[in-house]
Amino acid sequence: MEVLLANEYGFCFGVERAVEMVEDALGVGAPVRTLGPLIHNTQEMQRLECEGVATVQEPSQVSKDEIAVIRAHGVTPQVQAELEKRAAQVVDATCPFVTRVQRLAERAATEGRHVVVAGNPDHPEMIGVVGYAPKNTFVVRDADEVANLPSLHAPLVVSQTTLKLQTFLEVAEAVKAKADAEPQVVNTICSATRDRQDAARALAGLVDVFYIIGGKHSSNSIKLLAVCQEQCAESFLIETPQEINPADLKGAGRVGVTAGASTPNWLIEQVVKRLRDIGNQSNGNNGSRVN
Ligand code: SF4
Repeated sequence: MEVLLANEYGFCFGVERAVEMVEDALGVGAPVRTLGPLIHNTQEMQRLECEGVATVQEPSQVSKDEIAVIRAHGVTPQVQAELEKRAAQVVDATCPFVTRVQRLAERAATEGRHVVVAGNPDHPEMIGVVGYAPKNTFVVRDADEVANLPSLHAPLVVSQTTLKLQTFLEVAEAVKAKADAEPQVVNTICSATRDRQDAARALAGLVDVFYIIGGKHSSNSIKLLAVCQEQCAESFLIETPQEINPADLKGAGRVGVTAGASTPNWLIEQVVKRLRDIGNQSNGNNGSRVN
């Protein structure tokens, strides 16, 4: 049985950077507190908890002897200032792609322009961005919601980093009808999600069984599952190697593996190892190849 990994899988740049920054913070020796869960992966969160990282929900829960970590989604400047007042140190792990959206919105607002962000207004990333330009910014889920906006002055149109390109383009087009000047459209979508989906799609047609490793409630992992299922009916979303049912692999020649953007490498390696072990057992130890 051959085990094939998708060309792009697992931690995105921003999540990997955030986890590394937390690990560096642990080296300082003070308790580390992340504002909200650092990533949406139970197993990685449990590992970090064992190392001394705890999650808090509010800046008021951080105390003077603790290191506060801002996660990759970012926060409002007000929340950041509050953390800086309360914590011994603040580690800002906001993904640079998110920081770019914050800065663009802030600059447009200081120029007296409106900002339209295509995205989910309840998402922490969007709440953070709005905090940089609270009076001038509107977050819309789709082009239909643009109709409810007032007239817009020289608007900047940007996007939540994980939005679908089509939705962003539709919003940008709809904004024209509300604007008093040609909108400045800046595509701030990050390619990490799309790259993982494209790589999974490319592999799904070549394998008999596909395992997607990621949180059962992680939206990017659920989307990866849907992409794989389009071409490989035997696609399974699993959180741990223990969830692999050897019966599902009976007769499988090739097994595909991918992982959501919050899935750590050590978990992926465990899944690949278990698949290899199952392959070796069922093939009478004829060997298997892991790419
Ligand atoms: S998905 Fe993109 S924007 Fe979001 S944390 Fe990862 S790299 Fe950064």
